[in-house]
Amino acid sequence: MKEIILLKDGELALKGLNRSTFEDILIKNIRGRLAPLGGFAFRKSQSTVTVEPETDDVDLDEAVRRIQTTFGIVGVSRAAVCEKDIRTICETAYDYLYDELTFAKTFKVKAKRSDKNFPLASPAICDEVGGYLLSKLRGLKVDVHDPDVTVTVEVRDNAAFIHGAQKPGAGGMPTGTGGRACLLISGGIDSPVAGYMIAKRGVKLTAVHFASPPYTSAQAEEKVHDLLEKVSVYAGRINLFTVPFTKIQEAIRDDCPEEMFTVTMRRMMMRVASRIAVWQGCDALITGESLGQVASQTIHALKCTDACASLPVFRPCIGMDKNEIIEISRKIDAFDISIRPYEDCCTVFTPRHPRTRPTPEYAEKTEALIQNADALIEEAVQNAVLKIIEAW
Ligand code: ATP
Ligand code: MG
Repeated sequence: MKEIILLKDGELALKGLNRSTFEDILIKNIRGRLAPLGGFAFRKSQSTVTVEPETDDVDLDEAVRRIQTTFGIVGVSRAAVCEKDIRTICETAYDYLYDELTFAKTFKVKAKRSDKNFPLASPAICDEVGGYLLSKLRGLKVDVHDPDVTVTVEVRDNAAFIHGAQKPGAGGMPTGTGGRACLLISGGIDSPVAGYMIAKRGVKLTAVHFASPPYTSAQAEEKVHDLLEKVSVYAGRINLFTVPFTKIQEAIRDDCPEEMFTVTMRRMMMRVASRIAVWQGCDALITGESLGQVASQTIHALKCTDACASLPVFRPCIGMDKNEIIEISRKIDAFDISIRPYEDCCTVFTPRHPRTRPTPEYAEKTEALIQNADALIEEAVQNAVLKIIEAW
């Protein structure tokens, strides 16, 4: 039996005239992910994209999995393709959905007839297919409100499609429709979630990670690679810049009052990340900060760090509780990596009593104590090491 994959694109419907461009980007993204699995033909029509394998040996389960993590799609279904003849449609529905229907108590049939030349209207198609299935499967009942299985029949110009349950898509907007932003990624729980959330809105990601060897280990860097690989399952290719941060941190330790270590370090991170972000064509920074979570994330501390960013800072976790962030972290399969124990540079030289209400003026004065700050920033930017992370 010939099978295809049907994609429902969600918010794209809102895009009016841009719709076609958005769909083209979505198709390009999916094409890239499916390429290693074989040849596919793509067709757009009526808020659905059909993906048709060009050979019989394609792994459709894997194709569906890859499509399910592509932003810009609300639902994915595998469908049987058959001739537009009501008898064939009934038989195909029975054969194709037999397994699902034998385990169900109730079902309903939903029909969509976009080929208006087809002799039966949608209600008549439902009656025919429903009646046929009831005659073949004893014990099955119709429930139009809350059925165990919905049998969908779509009669289109070129063929009829039959499918059962639709699987959820990743939602959001197609990657590449929303510009590019730079994620400051630590090895923690929050920043990978923040990157995922902004990528979901169609934004491509560049990432910056600050490493402070020998205070931080190679395993801490490996953790960041592994986390970005999980984000990349959804967000596509990510350029990761690992920035040597040891000298800057030591300068802060040597030159600044201890209560301001963390805020000053975060300000220096913003300065370095802003430089790399602009150079890489990004239009915003992303962090995993959540209001009040730690001393460096009070409203006053954030005001101090924001002052050093030359781009808007997106903080999608800002209003979320830790358990809400963890829920997303688990969903994207990042949580078990995030809880590996290795030290991040943020936990190096942590002050015993951080100042929770710093002002930007006080932060500026503190930062001015760092010897050769500009040269240190320049050196860190120049020595950043690029690695490309790509899950597919
Ligand atoms: P996370 O779980 O993302 O590590 P956190 O709650 O531990 O966040 P902090 O350690 O204060 O919070 O870091 C706040 C934000 O600063 C992080 O979400 C991340 O965006 C950025 N950040 C922290 N450490 C680094 C680092 N080593 N490299 C790059 N960005 C970092
Ligand atoms: Mg952290």
